[in-house]
Amino acid sequence: MKESLLLTPGPTNVPKRILDKTALPMIHHRTKEFQAVLERVNANLQKVFLTRHPVMTFAASGTGAMEASITNLLCQSDTVLSFSAGKWGERYRDIAKSYGMDVKSLEKPYGEAFTPQEVERGLAENPKAKAILITHCETSTAVTHPIEAIAKFTRDKPVLLMVDAISGLACDPLRMDDWGVDVVLAGSQKGLMLPPGLAYVAVNDKAQAAIAGSQLPKYYFDFAETLKAMKKNDTPFTPAVSLIRAMDEALAMLLEEGMENVWKRHAQVADFVKKKMQSLGLKLFSKAPSNGLTAIIMPDGIDSGNAIKVMRDGHGVVMADGQGELKGKIVRFAHMGAACTLPDAQRGFDAFCDAMNKTGFKAPVHA
Ligand SMILES: *Cc1c(COP(=O)(O)O)cnc(C)c1O
Repeated sequence: MKESLLLTPGPTNVPKRILDKTALPMIHHRTKEFQAVLERVNANLQKVFLTRHPVMTFAASGTGAMEASITNLLCQSDTVLSFSAGKWGERYRDIAKSYGMDVKSLEKPYGEAFTPQEVERGLAENPKAKAILITHCETSTAVTHPIEAIAKFTRDKPVLLMVDAISGLACDPLRMDDWGVDVVLAGSQKGLMLPPGLAYVAVNDKAQAAIAGSQLPKYYFDFAETLKAMKKNDTPFTPAVSLIRAMDEALAMLLEEGMENVWKRHAQVADFVKKKMQSLGLKLFSKAPSNGLTAIIMPDGIDSGNAIKVMRDGHGVVMADGQGELKGKIVRFAHMGAACTLPDAQRGFDAFCDAMNKTGFKAPVHA
C-alpha cells in the first residue's frame, strides 16, 4: 500500500524536507547557532501572520495558546463575548468560563457562520466587553468566519478581537495588521505542515497593552517574560529545539511559495473537492466553507465512521469523523498544508468513492 495520506484537520502530512530537520543532531539552545534560528523564525512568522508585531512560540498544542491568551490578556472580572458555532468556539468560551469570567455566549447552529452584523450587534448590547473570542476556521463544521469584516467593528474600539486561527492560518486568508486583528492564535500541526507540539500567539499593540493589566495567575505561559526574551533572540525556558528547526524549514517553504499563492492553492483544491462531492449528489455541511477542509453530509443510513474505516484500512487515506453531535454524520475531508494538492485530493476522492460504494451508498459512484 502507498504511504498513508493524512487528510485530517491536524495533524497534517509533514513534507520530508521539514521532517529531516527534526532528525538533526541536538544543539544547545543558549548558543549563537540557535539564536540565529530563533531570530529567523521570529521574523518569518511575522511574514506568515502578516504582522509587524511579535508572534510568540510555545511548546504546547494549540489549546495551550488558547488558554495563554485568556490568562495573559484578561482579568477574572472581565466581560467576554464568545461567538461559537462549533466545538472549537465552545472550547475557547469554556476556557474563559473556567477562569471565572463573565462570559456572554452567542451561539449559532453548527454549519452556520456569524455575520459581521451579528458581531456588531453583540458588541452594541455588551458595550463593556473586554474581548471577543471567535474562530477563524471552525474545524468541527468546516465553517470560516468573516474576520476582515468583523474587525471593522473592533479595530477602533478598546475591545480585543481574539481569533483562534489554529486551523485557519496558511489555509484561509488572514491579514492580521491590514485587517486590525488584535490576537491571532495558531498551531503547528495544521496549515504550518509541522508535527504537533508548537502553539503561537501574535499580539498587536492593543493586546500588548492588555498584558500589563491582566491579573490572572500564570508562569510558563507568561507573555511579558516571553516577549522580553524574544527581544534578545532567546526563550524563557528550554525551547522545543527540533520542532523549531523544523519550523524554520516550514516557514521557508511557505514564504518561497508566497502567502497569496498558498491561499490560492487552498482555494483551488477546496473548490475541486466541493465540486467532486456535489457531482455525486452529496450535500456539504458548511454554509460558509473554509478552504482548509470540506465537511460532507452522509446520506441516510451511512455512518461516516464506517466509510472512514474503509478509506483508512483499504487505501491508507485518513479523514476525520464529525465531533460531538456530528459523529457518524459527516466526513471531514481536510486539504490543509502540504497535502493540499490536486493529486492528493484526487487520491482522497478515489478512496472516498470506494468507501461510499462499500458502505452501501446507492447513487452511482465512480471517481
Ligand atoms: C486543532 C484546533 C485547535 C487546537 O487543538 P490542539 O489539539 O490543542 O492542538 C484549536 N482550535 C481549532 C480551530 C483547531 O482546529
